[in-house]
Amino acid sequence: MRVFVKDTEIVMPGDKLATEEEFLPERGIFNENGYLFSLLVGDLFLGRGKIGVKPLLRDIRTFKEENVVICMITDLLPSIAFTSVSSIRLNGKDYVALKEGKIINPSERGHYGSSKKLNFSDYNVGDVLLAKIKYNDDDSYMLDIESSPELGVLFSVCEDCGEPMIYDSKLHMLACSKCKHVNNKDVSTVYGSIEEALKVIEKNL
Ligand SMILES: [Zn+2]
Repeated sequence: MRVFVKDTEIVMPGDKLATEEEFLPERGIFNENGYLFSLLVGDLFLGRGKIGVKPLLRDIRTFKEENVVICMITDLLPSIAFTSVSSIRLNGKDYVALKEGKIINPSERGHYGSSKKLNFSDYNVGDVLLAKIKYNDDDSYMLDIESSPELGVLFSVCEDCGEPMIYDSKLHMLACSKCKHVNNKDVSTVYGSIEEALKVIEKNL
């Protein structure tokens, strides 16, 4: 028996696998001049005189309610912020964002008991947020940035000069690293750290 690769080995397109006398080619295989080659990236399977390649499928998931996502404000109205939601890769799995996100201002939805009231005039298009999915609607994710201290603005640049805003722990607000402009956005406790943000996301998957 003449086989050039081991069973269950991952093979690449063009890998020479065996000769046609020994195996009946199944899917993922092509025959050229009596030799069988892989057409795909995948797992080789051999058995009962048959050979094939099973395509490697990446583990792809979508976000669901209570997951935390990274999003960027793309449009702002007094009562609603529209955001694009980032797809991410965590622990070898891809989480794909299929929809845009919306944040409704609490003052517009009658949350009288809410301790915080977002003032959307403090926010800017381009602000990057850490937000929780409250509702997974047909056409969008309804997001929340108030329900825990890790949620809120993750990255932001100065609206006056474009330099990065940094968190000033004395003022408890964001201040420009260059022109000292300050603003009153709802800041995440992991502001500025993608590494910490990913930990929050992982905790909520
Ligand atoms: Zn500035």
